[in-house]
Amino acid sequence: MLNRIDLRGSRRDPRGLLPRAQLDVSAAVEKIRPVVTAVREHGFSAIREATERFDGVVLERLRVPVAAIAAAAEELDPDVRAALLVVIERARKVHGDQRRTDVTTQVVPGGSVTERHVPVSRVGLYVPGGLAVYPSTVVMNVVPAQVAGVESLVVASPPQAENGGLPDARVLAACALLGVEEVYAVGGSQAIAMLGYGSDGADETDRCEPVDVITGPGNIWVTAAKRLLQGTVGIDAEAGPTEIAILADDTASPAHVAADLISQAEHDPVAASVLVTDSPELAEAVEAQLAVQVPATKHEARVREALGGRQSGIVLVDDLEQGLRVVDAYAAEHLEIQTRDARAWAMRVRNAGAIFVGAYSPVSLGDYAAGSNHVLPTAGCARHSSGLSVQSFLRGIHVVEYDEAALRDVAPHVVALANAEDLPAHGQAVTARFPS
Ligand code: NAD
Repeated sequence: MLNRIDLRGSRRDPRGLLPRAQLDVSAAVEKIRPVVTAVREHGFSAIREATERFDGVVLERLRVPVAAIAAAAEELDPDVRAALLVVIERARKVHGDQRRTDVTTQVVPGGSVTERHVPVSRVGLYVPGGLAVYPSTVVMNVVPAQVAGVESLVVASPPQAENGGLPDARVLAACALLGVEEVYAVGGSQAIAMLGYGSDGADETDRCEPVDVITGPGNIWVTAAKRLLQGTVGIDAEAGPTEIAILADDTASPAHVAADLISQAEHDPVAASVLVTDSPELAEAVEAQLAVQVPATKHEARVREALGGRQSGIVLVDDLEQGLRVVDAYAAEHLEIQTRDARAWAMRVRNAGAIFVGAYSPVSLGDYAAGSNHVLPTAGCARHSSGLSVQSFLRGIHVVEYDEAALRDVAPHVVALANAEDLPAHGQAVTARFPS
């Protein structure tokens, strides 16, 4: 079912040899550019048109009535409510520990620099809702923003025909449990454009004011729109179609490895599931397990397409040292380590969105209830970007405060560098304070 890539004996840089989706985000940017431009120029009418075209819903208003959010919480299945409350509590615990405190450095007597961590004012949090719906993603977006101290939080999620054109009821209920009241029934690139530029709505009470930062995962159209809006607003990392890589040796359970590969393939036909192993016997046993488990899974067609795609596969390596080089080159969104001494291998990984250690830390634990964040960089972006965190909503602002003596003391150095850069007015701005 999975492609085989045999890197045993290879000394080549594995980067170009690994399975990866041929997702052309740049081409998608060109396809959604007219939608984004239309939303910027025409607001509500363009959002309505795109929503009818891509979601099959005729939008009467952008904003979800606050009463509908409260009603969704009232009607929420008690088991789902209990689960969401646990997820919220754990996420608050982990993210609460991440809030940085301001740091003052006394550079010299009378001269200090303080780094203040200041939350952005208004954020747009995208919660996907195409092939699946994601109340858990409400928690993953909202909790770090709230811990950071963001004052104004907005959620956008696609309208669902089966919920009367509102976002999924469990998504609305999660918003209610977190105290979020500003929710828009808009998805895809039109949602990202609405958040970035702001938009009028059906009437005076139905406006969306522009945000400062947009975060959250989504499909290729959402990812493309975030790339297009970057600069107009801040964005988090590109968190596109999901990926799992598993580094495993002969101690791993084939049944668990197969189940974990399937669990992420279930997200999207373009999701990626990659096993990296030094054990050909494990590879065979995982294939045998997939042959049993895939026909029994609910979203079999989607899973088959994802596992059979060129983005998924089994990579055979000589040993775990080579396996480590391979997973670092791949830079997976989610990386599981199912080996002897799993923790020691995990601590040596350089590139991954999140790492799941040992037999009892599957990715789906992190998708929901580990306390970690599940909005993570995909497509190799883990080489340079982090997952969503409290830090994603803060800016570090340096506050510089020198007194007369401290400035006088350093003045000759400022003047020397200003002259070297042929910017003498810079030096004069300092010496003007000390007429001889
Ligand atoms: P989505 O909300 O991202 O996309 C649905 C929207 O796409 C619709 O509202 C529609 O307006 C728009 N759309 C559909 N077809 C279009 C087209 N041809 N042109 C332009 N726009 C179009 O929901 P989804 O599709 O279910 O995708 C969710 C994605 O998020 C999955 O790929 C999943 O793997 C990923 N995900 C990633 C993470 C992460 O952290 N990386 C976490 C959770 C989910």
